[in-house]
Amino acid sequence: MRRTNRKLHTMPSDDLVDTFSTTFGRRPDGLWQAPGRVNLIGEHTDYNGGLCLPVALEVRTTVAAARREDTLVRMVSLDLPGDVVEVDLDHVGSDGVTGWAAYVAGVLWALREDGLAVAGADLAVTSTVPMGAGLSSSAALEASVAAAADGLFGLGLLGDDAGRARLAAACQRAENEIAGAPTGGMDQAVSLRAREGHALLLDFRDGSAEQVPLDLERHGLALLVVDTRATHALVDGQYESRRRSCERAAEQLGVSTLREVDPAGLDAALARLADAETRRRVRHVVTEIARVRGCVDALRAGDVEEVGRLFCASHDSLRDDYEVSCVELDTAVTAALQAGALGARMTGGGFGGSAVALVRADALEVTERSVRDAFATGGLGEPAFLVLEHAGGPAGPVTG
Ligand code: ADP
Ligand code: MG
Repeated sequence: MRRTNRKLHTMPSDDLVDTFSTTFGRRPDGLWQAPGRVNLIGEHTDYNGGLCLPVALEVRTTVAAARREDTLVRMVSLDLPGDVVEVDLDHVGSDGVTGWAAYVAGVLWALREDGLAVAGADLAVTSTVPMGAGLSSSAALEASVAAAADGLFGLGLLGDDAGRARLAAACQRAENEIAGAPTGGMDQAVSLRAREGHALLLDFRDGSAEQVPLDLERHGLALLVVDTRATHALVDGQYESRRRSCERAAEQLGVSTLREVDPAGLDAALARLADAETRRRVRHVVTEIARVRGCVDALRAGDVEEVGRLFCASHDSLRDDYEVSCVELDTAVTAALQAGALGARMTGGGFGGSAVALVRADALEVTERSVRDAFATGGLGEPAFLVLEHAGGPAGPVTG
């Protein structure tokens, strides 16, 4: 058992069932769970119709739930202080549900909007996914609720990938329309559709997903996730401005999305763009999509050195061309590489959140120390670490 992963191995079930029972005065009908994720490569590609390659973490959100016959959703989180939150499903779309309740009630609402026979529920949640670290605690919460709804109301959607994709779509709709976060669908897809021991290649052009074996153990490797604990103010407009820049560039190039720009013809495409900043943004997106393909090929060929090189090239591109890195992410990446990581990069939208390094399993501690020391030297806040030695499985009922 690794120190940094301790929380993951403690069973939250007893506390969760106790809290459920004392809060709602009855036993839950069951327990369901869903993983957080880390994206291996393919950043800011989703809204460009591109590719990304996330992997489910072993850290998870667990929900204890019981069905109701009315439309009330009552919920409590062990991780957030506060009273029980109550929301009526009939009012979710119109009332402006705020806070964490939006993710929970939003999923039940979206499933109902999709024509599924879903009613209210009592729910208690707890999670080992750090909140706001870019490891998608929000999608883990949504997917655990979707899995619970599947069990409580007998939807039968967890049984195959098409059903899971439908649950993921409802989760994304909840996040976009009820929680008001304009995210692209990667997080929900991997939380519901991942396969243990695999990364998930997602294609945003057609919504398809492909399993890519990720056998870290066989190569004596692990992923070290560094939660920089940094969140930078004034970043909201940055995401929107990147998105708009990509849309404008696609329009100027006469393509529906930047996915349609052939990497072989990139220089010619760039020459048609007048603005230097736009050229850099386009270069990131087009080369990043190519790097996702390269990474999948390298994983299939067992060429882990190449995977590491692609991680580094991705980070450079995000830092220099897309300009979404920050001092904490750059420090984490540089320090991991100095300690001998095969590759390292920022992961997620940027401006804080987490970095991921591909490291030899026997170098985890020295890499962690190197990052910790670099943060101290740089006067940065203390980072947190999470180790992934085995790609996690998807959302589902808690068994055993
Ligand atoms: P990330 O998904 O990167 O962790 P987000 O800002 O997208 O960050 O989502 C974090 C939000 O999700 C929290 O502020 C909270 O509203 C909700 N959330 C996640 N996990 C939990 C939990 N265990 N209990 C209550 N709310 C949660
Ligand atoms: Mg999120």
